Amino acid sequence: MRRSTKRPYAAGHVPLDMDRIGAMARSEAGPGGGSFTVRQVRNDAKSYTCPGCNHTIAAGLTHVVAWSNEHLFGADAALAERRHWHSGCWRAAGRGRVG
Ligand SMILES: [Zn+2]
Repeated sequence: MRRSTKRPYAAGHVPLDMDRIGAMARSEAGPGGGSFTVRQVRNDAKSYTCPGCNHTIAAGLTHVVAWSNEHLFGADAALAERRHWHSGCWRAAGRGRVG
């Protein structure tokens, strides 16, 4: 008699590396409902002003950088106008304006 102690679909392949996924850029709905590229970054030494709350993003804080996927003058121009947001402010801005 054969005992099925092995489950082929749980054989440990395709591990999800959440750190790596979190570091990758992704597309999200942003302020105004447009599509934005969003990337999670860590603030080194510079301080940025978050457009969501107009407060400073402190050094050492993990936050997001976002730029539009629908910029009139293309991806380079969009990237040049990227903004730094508090993670929470970004989520609030995207969620509040869509739908
Ligand atoms: Zn903020």
